[in-house]
Amino acid sequence: MSDLLIRGGRVLVPARGIDAVLDVRVRDGVVTEIGTALEPAGGRVIDAEGCIVTAGFVDLHAHLREPGFEQKGTIATETEAALRGGFTTICAMPNTEPAPDSAPVFEALMERLAREARVRVFPLGSVTRRRAGKELSEIAELAAGGCVAISDDGNPVADGRLMRNALALASAAGMVLSEHCDDPELNDGGVINEGRVSERLGLAGQPVAAEVAAIARNIALCEATGARLHIAHVTTARGIELVAGAKARGLPVTCEVTPSHLFLTEDAVAGPGPEPAYDTNARINPPLRTEMDRWALVHALNEGTIDAIATDHAPHAIEDKLCEFDYAAPGIACFETAAGTLLTQVARGELQLARVIEALTSGPVLAWGLDSREKGLGSIEPGGVADIVVLEPGREWTVDATAMASKGKNTPLQGATLTGRVRVVVVGGEVRWESEESDG
Ligand SMILES: [Zn+2]
Repeated sequence: MSDLLIRGGRVLVPARGIDAVLDVRVRDGVVTEIGTALEPAGGRVIDAEGCIVTAGFVDLHAHLREPGFEQKGTIATETEAALRGGFTTICAMPNTEPAPDSAPVFEALMERLAREARVRVFPLGSVTRRRAGKELSEIAELAAGGCVAISDDGNPVADGRLMRNALALASAAGMVLSEHCDDPELNDGGVINEGRVSERLGLAGQPVAAEVAAIARNIALCEATGARLHIAHVTTARGIELVAGAKARGLPVTCEVTPSHLFLTEDAVAGPGPEPAYDTNARINPPLRTEMDRWALVHALNEGTIDAIATDHAPHAIEDKLCEFDYAAPGIACFETAAGTLLTQVARGELQLARVIEALTSGPVLAWGLDSREKGLGSIEPGGVADIVVLEPGREWTVDATAMASKGKNTPLQGATLTGRVRVVVVGGEVRWESEESDG
């Protein structure tokens, strides 16, 4: 593999305290040199002046849909979407058919990923068999097969005793348990945040208490077992307070927030006009919350309570969203808009750039110990894997769902103008994607 030189960009590696205009040299898949005035050695030179150069993004929460739901997305289409969004490593949720609940299913999935995936994928195993919440999956067997974490995402583990056992077994096997903290009984068929907008629109609400109660129970079980607990997509101010409290007590709790919950509120469902839009593309589970909740998440990200920004990329087929709001499948396809919305919030002065980059790179790697799987993951360091993203922070562009690589065109951001985009993506030392107007 030939030499690649990324020259003159603002190299930002928060975990290593690097924020300076530097050159980065890559050879044979690894970073070999970071410095100033590095000379080209015959390979490609990318001029990154005015750009941000950072590690490839690492996503702890994405849905690829294959196997079982290929009408919504495939490994090929969704990992291409990830690539274009700057995500060079993604952790794939196990709500597939079959669910990876045993070694044979997990192995078959790994083989399929090795053939089809455009980026590095760590698939999660399920906590319970068929994600049915009744009996535990083959947890030790999954870990032995290389599984990094388990989750029944979308189906919270309701049985507290089962959850306690799952936490203990996962931790003993060196895995994290990522939990969608929610109480479906309390939600009682709710489809949107319970409050002002649900009342105006006449839609059933999902109360804040459903998330808060589940987070509280799972933190208590984390404390009882000493096991590592990762709280998926926190959406509420009260929820993030609980996480901050658990961290302050030294519990092994980590958490993530989605770009959608950082950028949007429940108002996206109603739309901007006087007549409510009932935008099914803004239906997501857990739901978009209030502006107060959104600000609590922004603040928690800036001050470091939030370990990772995870997309919860959830592609759906057109017919899954082209229906009455109550019947619409929850989820947003957001691999290709995540960097744009986050950099827009940086441009607005809401989010701190270094914290955003950290939560997209070293934050998730540290939370799940992923650097033990691939040296240098989430960082740019000599001898480490060369997964690198070049960002254009000031570049304005308009979201066009039809142009997205994802099979899912389900975005509430259609037509929105964002400031900041992904320009070049390097995976394992290879320039695997660059935006068309890139002139490198
Ligand atoms: Zn979830």
